[in-house]
Amino acid sequence: MAHLKDNFGRSFPYFRISITDVCNFKCGYCLPNGYQKPNNKKEFLSLDEIKRIGKALSELGVCKIRLTGGEPTVRKDFIEIIENLKSLPGINKVVFTTNGYNLKYIAKSVVNAKVNGINISIDSLDREKFKFITGMDKLEDILIGLNELQDLNFKNIKVNAVLLKGVNDSEQDFDRWMQFVKSNQIDFRYIELMQTGDNLDYFKKYHVSANVFRDYLLKKEWIHQTGGFDAGPSKNYIHKDFKGRFGIIAPYSKDFCKSCNRLRITAQGDLRLCLFGDTGISLRALLQNDEQIPQLKDLINAQLNFKKESHYLELGNTGITPNLASIGG
Ligand code: SAM
Ligand code: SF4
Repeated sequence: MAHLKDNFGRSFPYFRISITDVCNFKCGYCLPNGYQKPNNKKEFLSLDEIKRIGKALSELGVCKIRLTGGEPTVRKDFIEIIENLKSLPGINKVVFTTNGYNLKYIAKSVVNAKVNGINISIDSLDREKFKFITGMDKLEDILIGLNELQDLNFKNIKVNAVLLKGVNDSEQDFDRWMQFVKSNQIDFRYIELMQTGDNLDYFKKYHVSANVFRDYLLKKEWIHQTGGFDAGPSKNYIHKDFKGRFGIIAPYSKDFCKSCNRLRITAQGDLRLCLFGDTGISLRALLQNDEQIPQLKDLINAQLNFKKESHYLELGNTGITPNLASIGG
């Protein structure tokens, strides 16, 4: 089946759907004061609306959907959402990103729902640093959840951390992840901190280039893997003595946008062509009944003509994104 394509030769087999803006963490770079409910808040996408998006996307050649948020697992119908998307022909992979706070309770149900991959955000393996970054003392619970997944023989786990200057960017921090990857056979990636509409001061204080981690990996004889284990913008590194891999997601690096293969839908049903784009056309009016699916497909297709070549983040452009919880990271 033909994939969605833009005017720069990129194709889009991968969509991220944010299913809620709500989050129970207070990460300093994202929601430092926790989730605040706006006065004029529209309801988040319902299960039926998500099903219709999934159907349209599957008919447009999309084969992978990531559920994200806010914290996607706070939704009571989270497992049902996974099951519904999994039942669509052509959607080969349904994956999600989580802060992991309740993985220990839901690990069994997500594995039973046949989810294909889970990205867990763990900004530090040091309890105090973790608490400092996320505002929550939940590291131990998250690690219990991760172990639970491994005990269930669930393989596709990636751990992501946002790299923060003077917080989790020392050689000791990196060594700790090295041990972790060795004993857990997971993939670990550092994400470079991104500036958003709300976090300029935090960004100025904590942004550091991911080259510090790249240099560490090269020093320890990790080898850059071209092609890589994860289609998309992560640069991956492998080592003969390790099963797990390291990755670096560096949005400020040259050519980052060239490998962009993803589009996003916000929890209120806006299509976002770029994490930092200023366009956010609403799909909601076309999500109300099954007869609208052909129109929905036409609208998504037509919108791709407006996708820009780059996010222009390096010029300080943050588009209309106040924080990544509002669009799903
Ligand atoms: N709540 C879930 C979580 O934290 O995994 C899913 C949503 S969160 C917005 C998705 C990812 O975006 C997380 O890995 C988070 O660390 C990352 N993130 C959020 N704000 C960021 C920023 N300003 N720069 C870089 N990464 C960010
Ligand atoms: Fe919540 Fe994820 Fe944002 Fe942290 S990064 S505040 S866990 S949405």
